[in-house]
Amino acid sequence: MAKDRLGTYRAKRDFTASPEPTGGRGRGTRHVLRYCIQKHLASHLHYDFRLEHHGVLLSWAVPKGPSLDPAVKRLAMHVEDHPYDYGDFEGIIPSGYGAGIVMLWDSGTWSPEVDDVDAALSAGELKFSLHGAKLKGSWVLVRSSGRFGGERGWLLIKHRDAWAGDLVITEQAPHSVKSGGDFPDILAAEDPVIWESHRPAKGGVAGALFTDIIAEAVRIKSARRAPRAIRTRAHRTKVRG
Ligand code: MN
Repeated sequence: MAKDRLGTYRAKRDFTASPEPTGGRGRGTRHVLRYCIQKHLASHLHYDFRLEHHGVLLSWAVPKGPSLDPAVKRLAMHVEDHPYDYGDFEGIIPSGYGAGIVMLWDSGTWSPEVDDVDAALSAGELKFSLHGAKLKGSWVLVRSSGRFGGERGWLLIKHRDAWAGDLVITEQAPHSVKSGGDFPDILAAEDPVIWESHRPAKGGVAGALFTDIIAEAVRIKSARRAPRAIRTRAHRTKVRG
């Protein structure tokens, strides 16, 4: 089952060029279901919202990210199922589909607020609770019936509860729940000049973000090298003196 569900995921990717998982499956007998959101800077910045179901991760790309305000409906484009082990992934996709930086922005578990998840998805309304590091409480995904985003368009909406509020969570909690870092830190862990000539986005907001992130990643990397150089010089001075 999981193998068939990941056909589109695999067809879009060249795993010799990308470090993304090729696709492991969830353990079907667990009673907890994985949830995660990956903040993904590619041709555009978006938040990939994922819920484990039948051993894979149902996935929606949310351009503006989640909002804790129940009055705000966030467009969520339904995309291909992702492998269960994608839920841990954070890093650089050097080229090809989704080329850019992936940050594990939130992770935890989820529980359906309906008896039959498949029936709820078919009906276009899935109510659920999130138990993440950042997002908690009751939420709903509602198919937008073509009003927004065409036939793949859904809306992600917070239900009114103790976890709803005015806090702009994407701005107040922008960093990784895995490494604690921001995009430049993730890039600095690899080669910041990876996109010297073929950057995933050159113009617009994403292009400007890439320019700043690459410069900051280079700065972080050289700052890490500097203390070693200073220690070496101090050591030499001491030896000579
Ligand atoms: Mn994405």
